[in-house]
Amino acid sequence: MTHVWITPAAYEGPRLKEIAATFLDQLPAGSIGPGKRVLIKPNLLLPAVPEQAVTTHPLVVGAVAEVASDLGAAVTVADSPAAVAADRVLRKGGYAPVLEGLPVRTKNLEATVPVDIGDPFGHVPIAEAVMRADVVLNLAKLKTHTQMLLTLGVKNMFGCVVGMEKARWHLRTGIDRQQFARLLVRVCDAVRPAFTIVDAILALEGQGPGPRGEPREFGLLIGGQSPFAVDKAICLLLNLEPHQLATCRQAEALGVFDGQVHIHGDVSICHDFRLPRLGPLTMGPPRLRRWMRRHLIQRPVPDNRLCKLCRACWELCPAKVIRHDTRGIQIDTEGCIRCYCCIEVCPHGAITAKEPILGRLLSRYLKGKLTSPED
Ligand code: SF4
Ligand code: SF4
Repeated sequence: MTHVWITPAAYEGPRLKEIAATFLDQLPAGSIGPGKRVLIKPNLLLPAVPEQAVTTHPLVVGAVAEVASDLGAAVTVADSPAAVAADRVLRKGGYAPVLEGLPVRTKNLEATVPVDIGDPFGHVPIAEAVMRADVVLNLAKLKTHTQMLLTLGVKNMFGCVVGMEKARWHLRTGIDRQQFARLLVRVCDAVRPAFTIVDAILALEGQGPGPRGEPREFGLLIGGQSPFAVDKAICLLLNLEPHQLATCRQAEALGVFDGQVHIHGDVSICHDFRLPRLGPLTMGPPRLRRWMRRHLIQRPVPDNRLCKLCRACWELCPAKVIRHDTRGIQIDTEGCIRCYCCIEVCPHGAITAKEPILGRLLSRYLKGKLTSPED
């Protein structure tokens, strides 16, 4: 049985430090102490202020860093955001004043080591600093995700696959959502974070995980030694059947998690958290698939009035289907694998996932009975 703690919290330094100390006390004695290298991996998706709720709040990161350094460990806060260097996210996200004065290093993850994560993926380049750390602390954010429904503890570990390698691995899993979930589970299992904390004090609902999502007060921190158990507990908290989250489903199917969770904490289930609608990524008989993908299936759509031509989306797009000119960007939906990385990294919220009009009419007609074949 794996234990998960759900604790009421607010963005107040001293209280966060108390909670962080209680959480880390669950680890075996001596895990964090003198001579130990502790790597804290927050979600530093893109440069954003904490009120946008797209990054792990700096006070949560600061509280955990302070507790670990008080215990005598050498602490590094590190990530590899997809489109920019980590220090840009740290600057904009308000981390500097929080970490200032603490004996803590910050680092953009770059150097990698090949790690065999198992079939069918084989060796994946994972950040060397992560694999060499004695303890990895996974500080995720509760956010919706247009492709994967939610991004929680398990998906946060995909940030340990550095920079553009993330896009390459996205492309390898193509339009198969369950295959991408298997990859996320395998990477998370290879990194093996010692403790996972999900910042759900201010969560993100709607069209997350980027600036298109809408912040929502939850007032909770959720923590546990197993990121798979933490994610499952959050599904239950959000009134979701855990198998609706592909990473939960695949963690059990792959045998890395037995599905047993003991939740500590007196919390009420949320019945109205706004999730993105997960459309199918492909459908229909092979002869009609192309037509159906063009006319029925959800796709990324730019709003060029908001586009600032910052390059992030076309540089990251794994399928290289985003063109640009002086008027903005255009997406070739034929080759698009619907990974929604472009939505995730756009700092101006200029791309959204939309269903073509025929798809919307069909969905209405079927009254929500349209489900992905692989789901
Ligand atoms: S256009 Fe967007 S959703 Fe499509 S492949 Fe590129 S990044 Fe992914
Ligand atoms: S759509 Fe967004 S990410 Fe792409 S170039 Fe425009 S502003 Fe940048």
